[in-house]
Amino acid sequence: MFATLSDRLADTFKNLRGKGRLSEADIDATAREIRIALLEADVALPVVKEFVAAVKDRARGEEVSQALNPAQQIVKIVNEELVTILGGETRRLRYAKTGPTVIMLAGLQGAGKTTLAAKLALWLKEQGKTPMLVACDLQRPNAVRQLEVNGERVGVPVFAPEPGNGVGDPVSVARASIEEAKRRLHDVVIVDTAGRLGVDAELMKQASDIRDAVSPDEVLFVVDAMIGQDAVSTAQAFLDGVGYDGVVLTKLDGDARGGAALSIASITGKPVMFASNGEKMTDFDLFHPDRMASRILD
Ligand code: GDP
Repeated sequence: MFATLSDRLADTFKNLRGKGRLSEADIDATAREIRIALLEADVALPVVKEFVAAVKDRARGEEVSQALNPAQQIVKIVNEELVTILGGETRRLRYAKTGPTVIMLAGLQGAGKTTLAAKLALWLKEQGKTPMLVACDLQRPNAVRQLEVNGERVGVPVFAPEPGNGVGDPVSVARASIEEAKRRLHDVVIVDTAGRLGVDAELMKQASDIRDAVSPDEVLFVVDAMIGQDAVSTAQAFLDGVGYDGVVLTKLDGDARGGAALSIASITGKPVMFASNGEKMTDFDLFHPDRMASRILD
């Protein structure tokens, strides 16, 4: 088990209470502990460096409070900075003013997109929406079937290409799905796209062609919280190749400490909007920056 940041700082500051102002040496000692805590949480190194510098700046200006001991005070600063980077308030979905709201999912294969698509559909249904799922992952042989099975589990219809009906490519399927949604009065369309094991140009091109065809109200980048340090390069590649409005973190039920969330939010400036934390369809919620901050620190 790792020591929590609070424990580490309590050790560092044993004799500091009532000293007035933190000395430069105190601040350096603090910075070291924060750095270790963030690296242990799998936050990417450039993000750690920037973060620690910001906390040092803030800590320098602060009086040592009477109410909090120095360790608590630093933890409070760190916590506030984390929440700010993670997006502050939970960012809500933007719905279209007219016609169906289109939500497109992008991410690597295995990130949990197909599972997430159904979870999001269920969540929307519970909010009184009438979603439809769209299978545009025609790359993986089993993906359409998997989405259909998940759609059945949550009672949400799935639009998928039928063999021989002429809509065989993902872009045409996506386009046709919007017409279908209008006809059937679905108010939200969730488009699942193909992933690859690694980032590649063809994948990006296909995803951006789908995006151009359906003009989504939200493009969500779905990423496995367990990928840790790789999160930054993957998130950046999808930002450059496809572009997105928000992030969904999956597999938060694993033992990942959540560093990926901080790295992605910090590097891309995009808010994490949803969290997926298990194999059950109800293991899904809005992302709460404050809870993630605690997870990173504990
Ligand atoms: P896709 O390739 O991005 O569509 O990913 P899938 O939805 O097929 O998910 C890949 C694997 O991860 C499957 O075995 C899912 O059951 C599993 N999975 C997806 N989301 C979660 C989650 O939040 N927690 C856990 N533990 N497993 C998940």
